[in-house]
Amino acid sequence: MLELGLNKSLTRLSLVNGSISHYQLIRSKRKTLSLQINNDTSVIVRSPQYLSIEKIEIFIQKKSIWIERKIQELQKRSVTKPTYLNGDKFLYLGNYYPLIRQKIPRNKLKFNGCNFKLSNDNNGADEFYHWYKTAFKAIALPRLDYYSNMCQLKYKKVRVKSQKTIWGSCSNTNNINLNYLLICAPISVIDYVIVHELSHIKHKNHSKAFWDLLKSILPNYKIEKKWLKDNGQKLQNL
Ligand SMILES: [Zn+2]
Repeated sequence: MLELGLNKSLTRLSLVNGSISHYQLIRSKRKTLSLQINNDTSVIVRSPQYLSIEKIEIFIQKKSIWIERKIQELQKRSVTKPTYLNGDKFLYLGNYYPLIRQKIPRNKLKFNGCNFKLSNDNNGADEFYHWYKTAFKAIALPRLDYYSNMCQLKYKKVRVKSQKTIWGSCSNTNNINLNYLLICAPISVIDYVIVHELSHIKHKNHSKAFWDLLKSILPNYKIEKKWLKDNGQKLQNL
């Protein structure tokens, strides 16, 4: 492998928890390896001049959980909380729509397909919480029943929850929980989480058999899985 010499840096690819992530390698007259994560989530590895790439990669692998966690923290920080002011944009089924504040007193949050409208004297946070939760139940629950019947994967109870970090879960007794914040995601992503949890009725793990079952129902599930990984933070800032 061709590498540049003293104090020159190289952008390399490394496998971090199964996903490819970039890092910049800077070699210099130092004795130890070090890792730096910048605010823009870029990763810099500083290494002794002649240390082999294999040893550097092993070092990164060992730190991969820490790197992932740090990057997630930074991404979380970079997502700003909504202000609920006129013009603020809100996600619904994968698209952003502006909020228009109105002078009409005490009217509820309304959505007309182009924008959200809300009275000036209403608290935006509570209104959006209720609106999102109601909309999620109306859209997701019939889809859960549709896939459950179609695939003969019978769940016991379903609960729609407000969780910051979990999109869905399936208990040992086949009770399903779904996160209402998924209403911000495209409908195909909602379907992915629904079918993922239904597949756990048959396989209580993430084995090959589990993914094969999921794939037999949603052949392109990897696109939705990736969407959730890449955009999940945007959904969690209410
Ligand atoms: Zn799972």
